[in-house]
Amino acid sequence: MIIEHLRQEFESTFDLLSELNTEEKCVDYLAQFRWNGKPICQYCNHDVCYELNLTNRGKRWKCKKCRKQFSIRIGTPFQESKLPIRKLFVALYLSPEGISTHQLGRVLSISQKSAWYLDKKIKNNFIANEMTENSIYQFYDDKCDDATKRFNEAIDVVVETYEKIARYYNILYAMEE
Ligand SMILES: [Zn+2]
Repeated sequence: MIIEHLRQEFESTFDLLSELNTEEKCVDYLAQFRWNGKPICQYCNHDVCYELNLTNRGKRWKCKKCRKQFSIRIGTPFQESKLPIRKLFVALYLSPEGISTHQLGRVLSISQKSAWYLDKKIKNNFIANEMTENSIYQFYDDKCDDATKRFNEAIDVVVETYEKIARYYNILYAMEE
């Protein structure tokens, strides 16, 4: 997960922006993260791709097999986004801290509306996917008060007892036949 990766690697957004201080460095960083430095064609899965440095479009790769070109954004939730990767990194980095879209807009020098869309995209594509079944139960447990927990435990006992009775009757029924 890119969010954890960024947060482990950089202690603050300041560190992140100091290290990844150009768009090209961010693209290289993401390419290393996604493909381990060996880009895979996103159209045909071929693993021999040439690096192209286009002055107006930034770094792209061209597949040796199908000859198609692609950028680092292909196949990501930000495929259509024009926001620089540097800004995306900062937004991803800050996402677990729950900052408001107003603050996010100010940090990234984008409108609050754009920040809202960005925040939504990150939540839907990164944070939501991380919500495994266990973490949902954990969340539920954390939010339950003691009375609710006792009630749920009582329900479990009732269900268990009912199942025991049902099993008992099934045995009796089976014996009768
Ligand atoms: Zn290809």
